[in-house]
Amino acid sequence: MTLKELEIGKSAVIEVVGGSGALRQHFLDMGVLPGAEVTVIKYAPLGDPMELMIHGYELTLRLSEAEQIQVKEISKAAENESHYMEKKTEHPGLGEEGKYHKKGVTEPIPDNEVLTFALVGNQNSGKTTLFNRLTGSKQHVGNFPGVTVDRKSGSIKGYPDTEVVDLPGIYSMSPYSSEEIVSRQFILDEKPTAIINIVDATNIERNLYLTMQLLELDIPMVIALNMMDEMAGNGGSVKINLFEQLIEVPVVPISAAKNQGIDELIRHAIHIAKYDEKPGRRDFCDKDDHGGAVHRAIHAVMSMIEDHAESAGVPVRFAASKIIEGDPLIAKALGLHSGDRQALQSIVSRMEEERGLDAAAAMADMRFAFIRKLCDRAVIKPKESKEHARSRRMDAFFTGKWTAIPAFIVIMALVFWLTFGLVGAFLQGILEMGIEFLTERVDALLTTLDIAPSIHSLVIDAIFTGVGSVLSFLPIIVVLYFFLSMLEDSGYMARVAFFMDKLLRRLGLSGRSIVPMLIGFGCSVPALMSTRTLPSDRDRKLTQLLIPFMSCSAKMPIYAFFVAAFFPRCGALVMTALYFTGIIVAIFVALIAKHTIFKGEAVPFVMELPNYRMPGLKNVLMLMWDKAKDFLQRAFTVIFIGTIVVWFLQTFDLSFNMVTDSENSILALLAGLISPLFAPLGFGNWKMVTSLISGFLAKESVVSMLTILYGGMDGLRASMDPLTAFVFLIYCLLYTPCVAAIATVRREAGKRAALKMVMFQCVVAWIVAFLIRLIGMAIIR
Ligand code: GDP
Ligand code: MG
Repeated sequence: MTLKELEIGKSAVIEVVGGSGALRQHFLDMGVLPGAEVTVIKYAPLGDPMELMIHGYELTLRLSEAEQIQVKEISKAAENESHYMEKKTEHPGLGEEGKYHKKGVTEPIPDNEVLTFALVGNQNSGKTTLFNRLTGSKQHVGNFPGVTVDRKSGSIKGYPDTEVVDLPGIYSMSPYSSEEIVSRQFILDEKPTAIINIVDATNIERNLYLTMQLLELDIPMVIALNMMDEMAGNGGSVKINLFEQLIEVPVVPISAAKNQGIDELIRHAIHIAKYDEKPGRRDFCDKDDHGGAVHRAIHAVMSMIEDHAESAGVPVRFAASKIIEGDPLIAKALGLHSGDRQALQSIVSRMEEERGLDAAAAMADMRFAFIRKLCDRAVIKPKESKEHARSRRMDAFFTGKWTAIPAFIVIMALVFWLTFGLVGAFLQGILEMGIEFLTERVDALLTTLDIAPSIHSLVIDAIFTGVGSVLSFLPIIVVLYFFLSMLEDSGYMARVAFFMDKLLRRLGLSGRSIVPMLIGFGCSVPALMSTRTLPSDRDRKLTQLLIPFMSCSAKMPIYAFFVAAFFPRCGALVMTALYFTGIIVAIFVALIAKHTIFKGEAVPFVMELPNYRMPGLKNVLMLMWDKAKDFLQRAFTVIFIGTIVVWFLQTFDLSFNMVTDSENSILALLAGLISPLFAPLGFGNWKMVTSLISGFLAKESVVSMLTILYGGMDGLRASMDPLTAFVFLIYCLLYTPCVAAIATVRREAGKRAALKMVMFQCVVAWIVAFLIRLIGMAIIR
């Protein structure tokens, strides 16, 4: 039977993993391989994808992929309780300073040389938390697979001559997603002095799979066994000394979150780097395992490619494993002749025949076989952790068949209501009052001082009014970020991806794309960056195309300003309409794109569901502070300069005389040139066009421009009808993303993609705005 047919709660042993290429490799790397035991936990509310338990962790899989996996059902006896140790164990091994691994004999690296450390581990293993502990810096921590998308580095506290690089989380050294490629390239090409491999002890079997591959690289390494607090708290334990003896690298139990064992980890890391202490063994293939076919093949390949690997600078054991797995990148890097290739191929074929498994599965099985043996001896598994039991109870509701989607809608509605309606608006009111008060004071002061009118106008009309109007939105943006990062940090976002997968697939995307899009409601820049976690180029590009249609928080000041001016009584309705227009347009664009430029299937949805965790308050506050800083920086740089430039262009004419009527200004002249383009939309006048142009710098500055040009809300209200105002809002929602977002697209996808995106969005915005104007006029008439 296939995995798809297995009922909920039933267990089976995997017999054959079908499929091909990178996806299949990914399955194998995640532990979905022949001989492994799986249990079906549940289906997503819409019936697809499914959730499985394998190697003690939870994995999601689409039904179409489950169909390719042959299984044999087994009746699983109730968990063997005696397996667990009731007694709580202390952190064993702590303070032993790694008695059991071999000490290096080489000369130490001289003191002034920088030691570089790569921090490598699975997603969600606590890398960023550890990185922050090691460096004392304040990176964002998340509970969603793939929050770290950029490489970050810093030096270890107290050791200025060190550099730690926090790499994106990876499950294996096979290049499956672009983050895996980033991490792998970093380790292979930039050759860090040492690796700090962080392993989640509560999920040890899956985590050690990556460790096995890292050991092949022959780079000094220390294992940081993280989450020991959770492990010990649930009666689990690791016999550290035995573990170290078997794996032959230093192992330090730590709890990054509780700041335990970090100092010892640092001491070990510095030591192995300084003395170039390489792992004691790389050879994990057992010559007695299934007749030793895999063992013989690896060693045969190793001796064949040794010269090639050496001259290409690739560790030979690693190269051999990758060659057997059929990794195209390594085969190319080694520059093998066709004769060599054939000889290698015949070694691999013979192994496949003897082992009765294909090469990739045989290699994965070899690694898991070692891990199983290691864990059987050195790891006392915890009983179901409190965290996991709680997660299961919460999931019964949050991903339950009937409750998941209503709960999602309620949660999002609550977030937006709290942000825009309650907390944010309240704080905004206070800030506005403060700014107003200050403006009046300064205005009075300038009048009494009898300052030149042009300077007076610059200070009050441009700086205070312009920057001030944008600044008052700071609280709302910060509050929105607070909620979004709470959702992400708690692990809820991963569930949203799980149950939205089926819907998003209709649009040609996978559930994973929902997260960048939700972040897009905060700001397009981090949203665009987080598309890097998507494993296919096609999904990445399509998601990037859709993100700017989400109403980012910088567009919100525009909405709020217009609502106050034109729709004071139906503000919520207009706001909601705008948010939904963005979403609907995105859906249309996706549907069209799916059948034209982005043909093809969405990437498979193989994702780990982490336990729910209490979001760390410190962590969330840090992120808020970051965003606030970012926003303030923009207000006082881009927007500040923009307002001054526009004020200047608006106050003077071509011969630099101050104009009495801004219609004669340079600005009116320039904006007048392109304003006919907007005549069909009803706002073909130079003031509106100017504000749109400045919105390109930062969306918020549309508001500051309009305030300057119309001399406040009343002036604006007098100059247009509500329909035009609404059409203008729609245009603002959909037209080109701001400079920062475009720069991000350029970095992620190239100049041409960025340029195309700007043009595309402007055209779409124009068309939609025009349609809405037509509809609106028909209704009014
Ligand atoms: P990354 O994806 O590997 O960078 O992992 P993060 O540092 O973002 O951490 C993922 C989650 O694990 C966060 O919710 C952390 O608070 C949590 N976490 C990290 N270290 C520990 C630990 O030692 N113990 C416990 N209980 N939780 C931890
Ligand atoms: Mg991280």
